[in-house]
Amino acid sequence: MTQLALHALPPSPKMPVLFIGHGSPMHAIEQSGFTRAWQAKGAALPHPSAILVVSAHWMTRGTTLVHIGRKPRTIHDFGGFPAELYAAQYPAPGAPEAAAATLELLREHHAEPDAEWGLDHGAWCVLLHMFPKADVPVYQLSLDLSRPLTEHMKLASELKALRERGVLIVASGNIVHNLPAMRWGAEAFDFTREFDGLVTQTIEARDFAKLAELNPRDPLMRMAHPTLDHYLPLLYTLGAADERDTPSFFAEGFDLGSISMRSVMLR
Ligand code: ZN
Repeated sequence: MTQLALHALPPSPKMPVLFIGHGSPMHAIEQSGFTRAWQAKGAALPHPSAILVVSAHWMTRGTTLVHIGRKPRTIHDFGGFPAELYAAQYPAPGAPEAAAATLELLREHHAEPDAEWGLDHGAWCVLLHMFPKADVPVYQLSLDLSRPLTEHMKLASELKALRERGVLIVASGNIVHNLPAMRWGAEAFDFTREFDGLVTQTIEARDFAKLAELNPRDPLMRMAHPTLDHYLPLLYTLGAADERDTPSFFAEGFDLGSISMRSVMLR
């Protein structure tokens, strides 16, 4: 298969691949141990030529979209938050060349170009801390909810080549995310700790495929993820990893009882 768009991107040493546990949009405008960990990680990374974000908040059905815009808009895709959060902007340029390479790599998965989306809060609330200058081109890939978990991981494995072209893959979700169970000020619930621990151990054991084989109807899985949108991004991070990458956790902890804020890097 010819890979003209991929080979048009300058080669680079292999970039790490990240998963960020993003939690509430308020993290965009508040400082915490989590946001400080994201800042520190952003500052310590090799400078990427582009960032591909796979966010829990861009869901599609029956198609996988890749945003190709040159000026992605900042999407305020939430309700009931303070005006300061709605005023926040992340004016990074788009990355149409890297997007074209991504579409090429995902040809067999029938990915399609998109000119409508932009940057949803799963992307910009995190990037605002990691790359505060907003000077690295950014683009997003959607999550096709009609695909089984194993297919998401397979699709992600096609993205590995981007890592040697300066592209930093940042998946953004949460290892535990149960919105109906969320309680302000609550300690982590038992199921939150249990599922976070299970995922952590499985990543440490490098049994990534197992995390794509979990049954979404399993009782613990249903408590941790009543819907799969915040879990799927993790499969992209793990799918884009190779056997030489070592996992490390650069943020961990819980929020609102039912959210794990754990973040993972593989490099
Ligand atoms: Zn979210």
